[in-house]
Parts: sequence; structure tokens; C-alpha cells
Amino acid sequence: MDLKNKRVLVVGLGKSGIAAAIFLRKQGARVTVSDTRSAAALAKEIPALLEAGIMVESGGHGLLTFRRQDLIVVSPGVPLETPEVKQVISFGVPVIGELELASRFLKGRVVAITGSNGKTTTTTLIGKIFAEGGLQALVGGNIGTPVIDLIPESTNETVSVLEVSSFQLETIAEFRPWIALVLNITPDHLDRHGSFENYAAAKTRITENQQPEDFLILNAEDKPTQMVAAKTKAQIYWFSSRRPIKQGAFVYGESIVFIPREGGKTEPIMPVAEIPLKGSHNVENVLAAVCAARLAGVPAEKIRASVASFKAVEHRLELVRELAGVEYYNDSKATNVDATIKAVEAFPGGIHLILGGKDKGSDYTVLSPLLRERVKAVYTIGSAAEKIGRELHGVVKMVEAGTMDVAVHEARKAAVPGDVVLLAPACSSFDQFQNYEHRGRVFRQIVHELS
Ligand code: ADP
Repeated sequence: MDLKNKRVLVVGLGKSGIAAAIFLRKQGARVTVSDTRSAAALAKEIPALLEAGIMVESGGHGLLTFRRQDLIVVSPGVPLETPEVKQVISFGVPVIGELELASRFLKGRVVAITGSNGKTTTTTLIGKIFAEGGLQALVGGNIGTPVIDLIPESTNETVSVLEVSSFQLETIAEFRPWIALVLNITPDHLDRHGSFENYAAAKTRITENQQPEDFLILNAEDKPTQMVAAKTKAQIYWFSSRRPIKQGAFVYGESIVFIPREGGKTEPIMPVAEIPLKGSHNVENVLAAVCAARLAGVPAEKIRASVASFKAVEHRLELVRELAGVEYYNDSKATNVDATIKAVEAFPGGIHLILGGKDKGSDYTVLSPLLRERVKAVYTIGSAAEKIGRELHGVVKMVEAGTMDVAVHEARKAAVPGDVVLLAPACSSFDQFQNYEHRGRVFRQIVHELS
């Protein structure tokens, strides 16, 4: 891809947008960036961009800015339905995302992980197993480091382990992972994708350019994920925590095992009991990682040692503290209903559950059976509180807490030894917090200050 003197517009100045703009400039492109945020809000970002010779448009998108371009790079935070973007697409101007742009320049092989939940955990775990298994692994994508920033370090020997979101997959064209993983597809981001079908279709795109020499790892227990199998040319490996399968990884008795090819010998990998993470969903993440690691040639003993020494990623069902026999868990990253279900399922009962935040068009009624079974009380916070209260009316005791502070203190008053106070809010955080990390930190701090 020759970018010299090409006119390129980068839409959206998040982390990956800025990285893309600087990269494009270094490749000799004539780069403009456009963001709807004001110049004041972008005061930190703008000077470095101007310094690099990049034109900056802030406070909105000018239609003319979009018209004169050879290529448009949209950030994952910018919906393709944005009128200016829609219009240039209709004019036939190529519109891609940072993932696509980066993958044209990234050397070596790519392992890409998508799913509604578990991406960060599984990406981190695969990165660790690969590195400890002797591979030259780079980790990036939706997890933090933009893929573009991995390019300078990449060589023909590296394996880039990339977390990819549905938004990033919406703007690929030729992106072709050597190994692709789809962990699960459960409703999320319906406010932006419009329907579950659109959302599932975006995730399916992870395999659209794969060829018969590539691998696709899928969850045998997740119906929407199974549909991805019909759309691939790659070799499929399944994982299951419930039953034996012919090719892939599964739980057999007390152990995780792997079958490298249909009819092949079963390889023992490790006892399930050595997985240091809570919840059956994390067994699924380990199974997915085992498939990827074995396909990449990492020996079983190395996988076992890496998994056994893995620590839960911050804000993912993280134990904050035990106080007066009550455990406090921070699962602020449970930003959708399915993640909340998995968090609740990780405990047998006695749960005080903090729910709420900014609603994403979710259906909370599906929580009802599990709440009845295991949850003593729900404490609602944020702007979704009213909707949650309405949809779960009469299911369990509801406390309209409003804020995190009140929620934690009310839960603490009600909890008895053996109970669990769990923040797994099923919503995004943007109504009361900067992001889920901020929400998790606030929860942790309030819990640490309890005496
Ligand atoms: P993602 O990057 O896809 O958001 P994370 O690893 O950050 O995934 O986890 C997001 C949330 O989902 C956390 O609340 C975590 O406890 C939960 N979770 C992790 N793995 C799974 C899984 N396989 N299925 C369902 N929920 C999961």
C-alpha cells in the first residue's frame, strides 16, 4: 500500500486514531484528522499532530473535508452511520479502520481474538503462553496498544496476538488472521449495531479472508458462534467445557485435553483445578487459549505452567477484599448482561449485586431466574436504574442506591458472613464515570475505606 502524497482523513482522535495519523504521516501521506470534540477538549492531542504536519479539524466534521480524500480511516468509536462517513462510502471512497491499515504493514503472523466477553482475558493469556512458550509474541489491538504501534517491532518471526472488537471488524477489507478465535456472541452494543444479527455479522467478518491453511477456533456451546462455522474456509477447532469434541480442546473428567486432529490422540494439558481464575467462563477462556497455543506449537507442559501462574486481569472478577467474612469482588468490566450472568454463576449464593450505569439497549429480564436462585438483593445505580427496577420488579429485593457509595454501604449493612458483594453492573459506565476502569477504581476505594 503506497501512501506517499495520498490524501488521507482520519476520523476520530482516540488512541488508535492518533497512532494511525502519525503513522500515515510518516509514510508520506497528506493527513487530516477530524473529531467532533472541541479544540479545548483536544488541547492535549493537537500540538503533537500539528508538529507532525497533520491538519486538524475539531468541533465537528466538515463535509468538504471528507470530499477531497483518497482514503478515510475511521476510528472504532465512530459509527459508520455518521452522515459524513455514510456519504463518502456512497461515493466509493475507500473507508477502513486502523486494524486494516496496520495489518497491511504488520510483519509475521496474526492471532486475532473476538467475542462479546473474554477477549481481554484470553488475549492476555495467549500472549503470556506464547511468550513463555518461546514464541516472539506481541500483544495489542482493542486491549490497549494500537496495532499500528506494533509494526516497528514486528518481524517475519513475530506472532501478533490481537484483541479485535466488532467495531474494528466492521472496517476491515483484507485482514486475514492465521488463527482466529470467536469466544462467544451474546447481545451487546445493540445501541450501535442496531440488531443482534448485525452485531453477529460484524464478528463473523474475522474469518472472511481466511484460507484453508488458516485456523478458526470456536465455542461449541454457543449457538450464534456455531453459525460462524458455516462461513469459513479455515480449519475449525472447537472448544467445550461440557462435552468431548472431535478436534479441539475440552474438559474430560477433571482435566483439560486437546485433540490435534479428528481421530488423533488425546493430549492431556492440565487439571482444571490448576486454573487460578474464578468462574466457568474462565475455563472456556483457557480452553480457547489451549487450542491457539497447541496450534502455534507450544508444548503442553509450557501451557500448563503459564496458565497456572496467570492472574485475573484488573476489573475482571477481581477479589478486592474480605471484611467481616464478606468478600467484595470488582467485575466492573461486566458491561453487558451475559458477563453479569457469568459473574453471578461464579458464586453459589449469598450475593449482593450492584447493577446499573448507562443502558445499552439490553434486556435485563433474562437475569431473573439466576437472581432468584443466588442473589439476596440488587442495588441499582446510574441512569439505567429505573429500567432495571422495572424489568426486575418482584424478582428479588431491590435497593435504589443511586450512587456507588450508597450501594456499597447498603450492601455492607445487609451482608452477613459468607456473603459476597459483587459489582457486575451489566451496563457501561459513562453516565457516572469516565470509563469502566474508573468505576472499578471508585468501587475498590470505597471498599478499602470500609472499616
Ligand atoms: P472483553 O475484552 O471481551 O470485554 P474481558 O476479559 O475484559 O473481555 O471480560 C469482560 C467481562 O466478561 C468481565 O466481566 C469478565 O469477568 C467476563 N468474562 C470473561 N470471560 C468471559 C467469557 N468467556 N464468557 C462470558 N463472560 C466472560
